[in-house]
Amino acid sequence: MSYDVIVIGAGFAGLAAAHRARRAGLTVHGFEAGDDVGGTWYWNRYPGARCDVESVDYSYSFDEDLQQEWTWSERFAAQPEILAYLRHAARRFGLYDLFELATRVAALRYTGSAWDVTTADGRTERARFVILATGSLSIPNIPAIPGAGDFRGEVYRTAQWPAAPVAFAGKRVGIIGTGSSGIQTAPEVAREAAALTVFQRTANYSIPAVSAPLPAEEIAAVKAGYAARRARTRRGLYGSPAHDPHPVPAPQLTPAEATRVLQERWAYGGVYFARTFLDQMSDAATNRIAGEFVQGQIRRIVRDPAVAEDLVPADHPIGTKRICTDSGYFETFNRPNVRLVNLRRDPIERIEPGGVRTATGLHELDVLIWATGFDAFTGAAARMDIRGRDGVALSAIWSGGPLTYLGLLVPGLPNLVLLNGPGSTGPLANMVLCAEQQIDWVFDLLAAAGQRGAAAFDVAPGAAERWSEVVDEAARRTLFPKARSWYLGSNIEGKPERFMPYAGGLGAYVDLCAAEADAGYPGLTFG
Ligand code: FAD
Ligand code: NAP
Repeated sequence: MSYDVIVIGAGFAGLAAAHRARRAGLTVHGFEAGDDVGGTWYWNRYPGARCDVESVDYSYSFDEDLQQEWTWSERFAAQPEILAYLRHAARRFGLYDLFELATRVAALRYTGSAWDVTTADGRTERARFVILATGSLSIPNIPAIPGAGDFRGEVYRTAQWPAAPVAFAGKRVGIIGTGSSGIQTAPEVAREAAALTVFQRTANYSIPAVSAPLPAEEIAAVKAGYAARRARTRRGLYGSPAHDPHPVPAPQLTPAEATRVLQERWAYGGVYFARTFLDQMSDAATNRIAGEFVQGQIRRIVRDPAVAEDLVPADHPIGTKRICTDSGYFETFNRPNVRLVNLRRDPIERIEPGGVRTATGLHELDVLIWATGFDAFTGAAARMDIRGRDGVALSAIWSGGPLTYLGLLVPGLPNLVLLNGPGSTGPLANMVLCAEQQIDWVFDLLAAAGQRGAAAFDVAPGAAERWSEVVDEAARRTLFPKARSWYLGSNIEGKPERFMPYAGGLGAYVDLCAAEADAGYPGLTFG
């Protein structure tokens, strides 16, 4: 069949895009590889999974009735509640009718006037416009460790966790990976398992999530002022309105005052700690003070000094890898059934049928959990065979790293849009609001193209290269490039390294997108 719009992916971004397309009077069809909607929150069902941006902000703002009728039970909702919210939104707006679930898209071909979208089972649908809402953290990274397929016990991936509960009681469990996912999983597993071994390559900064039930009066206050809160959020740096950073650089405060400010943020919890001071992500001296505070907290919490030293991050400024949020992660290492293996000193040699062999010997396991991250930003698009104008492949366009205009459009792929893609603020701000503003921009663009009588839009020559410079320059003004992280692509062997998100803040990003539209889209061509 032929549609106006095909949306690929039914997470936060894809659901909102499909709803918006239908409201705009367009015919729309969606594909989602998962058996249900929810995206990130469908796939990542590991124990302990919860958001790190407050739920009242990490939720849709586009429908006042929805935000008034839905009540979050706690500050940082856990995965089941976020998935329930997305299912509710999908039902409420009739979006299940639009999406084909359990259907992976394998290829996209631009015909010259439309896109042919072919599924993995060989069916082709056609649309004038395609929206790739395929997620920037949707393709799990499976490291090529020798013997990885040989393990005879149970194997799980945090990023593709089964729907049925997993029982750990009486079992010896190993977790490889200590990013946000591993750090959230470990305390939950440790409570139940006979023994937990955490295999850590890089020690990470983590802050208590401090989630708690939301008092009725706080919910009422948020709902009463939701419109203003959302407006402020969109103008902010990170997509969270209620937490202005301390304006004075930490080195200009007395040590006691700096510690007091940091202590307050630590007690408040959540990712905002990474921005306790306004210049924390751009000034090495402020950043060092914040980092040393957390290092001190780790040494204070973990009783065994040798284990504490292994858990203290040493190789990157705090926040340059996304700061983790946890519920008792460092405390977990005080339990008698938990052991840390420092892979820098004691590297993995191979996985064997009975467990993980490191340089010092075999760690026998019944269960192995991979919490090893994602092929971020580009992974989902790269796994589809996408061919644009003149049959040119996306893989060729992106051979030197992702090239986009405003993080939304790819030169040579007319009438195709990315949401939460490389070159947008992505994970450096609230991704729900980032996607919502991108969707508004995209549908304004479709209307503008219609008014010009144009059948297609594409990126003007040189515009994507200029946007790359904007993204590079924004990153250079920060400490982010100092960490080897998934922001840079350095977690995936052979991936071209390029700092992928726009680090100038959500407000600045919204302004840059608006300026393009207000100026009549000088960065685009219409034909
Ligand atoms: P996704 O939710 O990733 O959805 C993309 C969908 O596309 C997936 O369902 C996938 O199956 C589908 N898809 C991909 N390729 C294909 C294909 N070829 N064919 C068909 N379907 C396809 N961000 C925050 O801002 N705050 C948080 O607190 C936060 N917590 C997170 C916690 C976890 C565990 C993870 C992994 C990420 C978290 N993120 C967080 C980032 C999160 O990914 C985004 O906030 C948001 O959910 C992304 O929504 P999305 O719709 O862009 O992508
Ligand atoms: P991640 O941050 O990339 O962490 C992956 C972990 O696996 C790292 O500790 C990494 O070590 C390790 N690893 C990778 N390959 C390895 C190998 N071959 N051997 C040993 N260790 C290896 O991935 P993630 O934890 O899934 O988080 C990704 C992002 O998702 C987060 O940054 C965040 O944006 C989002 N997220 C958010 C939440 C939340 O709190 N709301 C929860 C989960 C995820 P190195 O560091 O040494 O590479």
